[in-house]
Amino acid sequence: MSKIVFFCIPAHGHTNPTLGVVKELISRGHQVWYYSYNMLRDKIESTGATFVSCDDFDMEQKLSPKDGARIGKDLAFSTKILVDTTLALDDKVCADMERLKPDCIVADSMAVWGKAVAMKLGIPFVSSTTTFAFNQHSAKIMKQSFGDFLKMLLSMPKVTKQIKRLQQKGYPIKSVLDIIQNDEHTHTIVYTSAEFQPCCETFSDKYAFVGPSIRPASKTVEKSRSKLVYISMGTVNNDMLPLYQNCLTALSDAGYQVIMSVGSMVSVDSFGALPEQISVFPQVDQIAVLQQADLFVSHCGMNSVNESLYFGVPLLMLPQTPEQSGVAQRVAQLGAGILLKKTDVRSIAQGVKTLFSDSSFRENAHKISVSFRECSGAKGAADKILQVCESAHPC
Ligand code: UDP
Repeated sequence: MSKIVFFCIPAHGHTNPTLGVVKELISRGHQVWYYSYNMLRDKIESTGATFVSCDDFDMEQKLSPKDGARIGKDLAFSTKILVDTTLALDDKVCADMERLKPDCIVADSMAVWGKAVAMKLGIPFVSSTTTFAFNQHSAKIMKQSFGDFLKMLLSMPKVTKQIKRLQQKGYPIKSVLDIIQNDEHTHTIVYTSAEFQPCCETFSDKYAFVGPSIRPASKTVEKSRSKLVYISMGTVNNDMLPLYQNCLTALSDAGYQVIMSVGSMVSVDSFGALPEQISVFPQVDQIAVLQQADLFVSHCGMNSVNESLYFGVPLLMLPQTPEQSGVAQRVAQLGAGILLKKTDVRSIAQGVKTLFSDSSFRENAHKISVSFRECSGAKGAADKILQVCESAHPC
């Protein structure tokens, strides 16, 4: 029996893909501890893992709204918060690891404290990556996103100062790259297929492309028209009333069934009386909708894109962040969607029309769907983790 410790950030999108893997490990008789946040406790405990709360040590949660808005934009500040969190967790996690003596640590690529503690204590390590795997080659494809992020990060003396703080606490970290980038020697689980990963041939055999994990639908959606268009801008930055209004104006006369999920920050009443084929909800069962949909108007969060392509649904893409732009560029490159530069009514209507009139978009989405369904999934991810555990204790 192996002892495995998971670390993740407080985000459903980064946690969900790992839950099937944890269940699989536990069903094979292994023990799992999961360091995460109270908002995710129920989900994590439902897998059978032992939940360990990091809420008291998370520096991001303690920020004022003004400082919170700097995360992801001010890079030196973001690194400081990551380092602060790592150092705040240092005493507890190091003491816990000395006691538990895990065979392996598995950490989300953004939960840098998991990788840092594995390096400090010499514990075998597996990185868990819910976005694309990153190296200098894939960075070029995903320009505007991780490439620029790294360049800026490396050029900042303030970042070097933060790394020194880790070194003083015994972390053998030479540069920020050691913790935020996985080199070709780092065992890495990537929750997409090799076909969808940009430049997959440039990654070593330490990388396992296990495919997305798609949760089951909790209901069935009835299709009332020959074409169903689904619209969602995700669960985080979804306060986008003008964009939703543009989508409905672009689609209201086209005769399609439209289902739109707007989140909790926009009132469904804002749209007034709607034609019977158009429905707006704060939240939907996205898997159930995508099983019936013909087109997804999406912000291109990695989970939404994975789910759409898993069901072979082409995308009209309106990314809002550099990471979403990177994902959208890859979908566009594989011909499974159209990336819109403008979000006015005409551009949206034209994009939808093109996606429906050119069957190659659906065919290309179907090809990616096949590649996802052929992946090894949670079982393959569990095999990878257990190989790393075993290589640390060869018989
Ligand atoms: N989702 C859902 N119902 C909704 C909107 C979103 O179930 O009405 C789910 C969706 O299936 C996906 C997740 O929320 O798994 C959104 O994750 P993504 O990475 O696409 O975007 P984020 O919300 O992190 O920006």
